Amino acid sequence: MGPPGAGKGTQGALLSQALGVPRFATGDLLRDAVKRGTPLGLEARAVMEAGHLVSDDIILGVVREELARDSAANGVIFDGVVRTIPQAEGLERLLAERGRHIDAVLFFDVTDAEILARLEKRRAVEGRADDDPAAVVTRLRAYREQTAPVLAWYDQRGGVRRIPAVGAVDEIARRVGEAVSAVRK
Ligand code: AMP
Repeated sequence: MGPPGAGKGTQGALLSQALGVPRFATGDLLRDAVKRGTPLGLEARAVMEAGHLVSDDIILGVVREELARDSAANGVIFDGVVRTIPQAEGLERLLAERGRHIDAVLFFDVTDAEILARLEKRRAVEGRADDDPAAVVTRLRAYREQTAPVLAWYDQRGGVRRIPAVGAVDEIARRVGEAVSAVRK
């Protein structure tokens, strides 16, 4: 978890390699659906481009499918899920149905100033519609109002590992590795 531009995608990919466990990013899946013009993409496109959150039902539907895959049998690194309390509750239910659980919740901690600088840079490189300044304001508001409360929710149920996420990519990856190995022992 973490605000947009916190480095979840970069660190999620590195952790996926290190653990040999797939990374599942709802944002990537949705962007791909938009690009291919599937029914899911058509439904999500305008909401995403404006920087709002896609509905909890859609997200829980794609998470349910992901958990059913053979490739997820040994675990999944969720990136950008969950982003609301109903999603957190829904994920608990989906995991319980399968006799599974969350090993660790990692929170990538970055200041707003750093986020704005990173997203501006990413916009120039990737050209994501939701990295334009108006959409970024909406995304940060969605994060503060809907996602940040989920951290307190997890704090009450086993805790959140906070990763200071400013600095060199490999230094942050080292912190992630430490946080995860503390859980797996
Ligand atoms: P991301 O790549 O994780 O920043 O996600 C890009 C966009 O996809 C978000 O701004 C939302 O519109 C949508 N999205 C991705 N994951 C979720 C989620 N868990 N809940 C709601 N919307 C999501």
